[in-house]
Amino acid sequence: MGLFDRIKKAFSAEPEKETPVEQDQAIPETPVESDATPVESQTPAETAAAEKTETDEPASLATEDDSETVSPLDTPTAAPVNSEPEPEPEPEPEPEPEPEPEPEPEPEPEPEPEPVEASAVTEESDAIEEVPETEAVTGDMQAAETKKYDDGLEKSRLTFGQRLNALFANFRSVDEAFFDDVEEMLIEADVGYETAMKIADELRDEVKLRNVKKPEAVSQAIVEKLVDLYGQEGQAEDNQLHFAPQGELTVFLFVGVNGAGKTTSIGKFAHQLEKAGKKVLLAAGDTFRAGAIEQLQEWGRRDNVPVVASAAGSDPASVVYDAVKRAKEEQFDILLVDTAGRLQNNVNLMKELEKVKRIITREVPAAPQEVLLVLDATTGQNALVQAKQFKQMTDVTGIILTKLDGSAKGGIVLAVRTELHLPVKMVGLGEQMNDLQLFDPNRFVYGLFKDIIVGDGPQKTTDTDVSQAIK
Ligand code: GDP
Repeated sequence: MGLFDRIKKAFSAEPEKETPVEQDQAIPETPVESDATPVESQTPAETAAAEKTETDEPASLATEDDSETVSPLDTPTAAPVNSEPEPEPEPEPEPEPEPEPEPEPEPEPEPEPEPVEASAVTEESDAIEEVPETEAVTGDMQAAETKKYDDGLEKSRLTFGQRLNALFANFRSVDEAFFDDVEEMLIEADVGYETAMKIADELRDEVKLRNVKKPEAVSQAIVEKLVDLYGQEGQAEDNQLHFAPQGELTVFLFVGVNGAGKTTSIGKFAHQLEKAGKKVLLAAGDTFRAGAIEQLQEWGRRDNVPVVASAAGSDPASVVYDAVKRAKEEQFDILLVDTAGRLQNNVNLMKELEKVKRIITREVPAAPQEVLLVLDATTGQNALVQAKQFKQMTDVTGIILTKLDGSAKGGIVLAVRTELHLPVKMVGLGEQMNDLQLFDPNRFVYGLFKDIIVGDGPQKTTDTDVSQAIK
């Protein structure tokens, strides 16, 4: 079963509730080895709060110890995009025909359709009534998380629907000009050039094969192909944030061009981590941008988190060295390092980033555990170009995609996966502290296409709306 069908199944099961596929991971209480450390699609604070669940956070998503809460696959609602589709529930073996004719062989009950909270791909889901109270609370929180994706992606979703409507309004039959417009529409939706071409080619073949004449019939196929392609491409993708084992320092390096949202993301993340009981330190490594140091210091005050800083124009590497030293001496859990987004030229910028990274690794060999490239979703294809440059020059481990709330360019997530092959690890879905979310691919895809995945097709809009939407 493709990702489209899995998501559709999960989200259609109980349409009035909005808790779909889930990835319950948690910043582990005992952060485990990097390749075993999953993080969930909750706010980082909630994930980290999971650590303290037995004591002061009863509503935490983590209701058990780490080993049971950290894996997305462990939870009934997990629907990792990356995983292969689960095998269909095995039909119960037919009872052996009894020698003496028994009245009625008791038919094995059909597997229940998964509740909305449940993954379309896991078999462990229980009926909602059987969910223990703690999990019911968890369900509410999951619904809240889904709503964040829903709200944050509203603009992208509506715009995509409007584009589809506009496309279908223009064509009465499926011909070559129609496919050209499909390609154009997909490119405008920022799903990426290669993806747009691939989808249009597959559609051409399919339409020919099935002798489809009406453009409307193609609507769902377009989204289905987009979603399934996204699922396939993500099978080996690691969307989790990796932390050092407990007792050891974790260092995350934030890179990206000025204005992408590095400082804001650090501030929000630090707030969530601090709230979750982590000892967090910030390093004001962007000594070049006017005001960047003060901005981080302001976040530090707001978050109640210390900031290591030096004067504007000073050597970022020495700031970072001081920060790592302090983090080790004072046993901080996590050090978040801001970096410059712009120097005289790209070569200098990349050299600077490499230098900063080298110093971190020299002081803490396993660090930085993450080099997170912050991209502004509103910049669409420019963000992709930036990402390609950064990827060439430095070892980016993941993407933070910001400002999705103000953007109609949510489709960029597909291009990031299919063209950049870099995992998105966090998304900025709004202005609030908790709107910086750990990335949940399934919720994202649902938020982006839900009108078509579970609805009656793209939302109807007026011509004015369409013209406003297509820039
Ligand atoms: P930096 O130069 O990369 O450090 O960028 P900043 O952190 O200063 O962010 C630039 C602007 O983007 C600020 O006005 C932020 O408030 C805004 N911003 C960052 N992330 C988000 C987000 O997820 N949503 C919205 N709406 N605005 C954001």
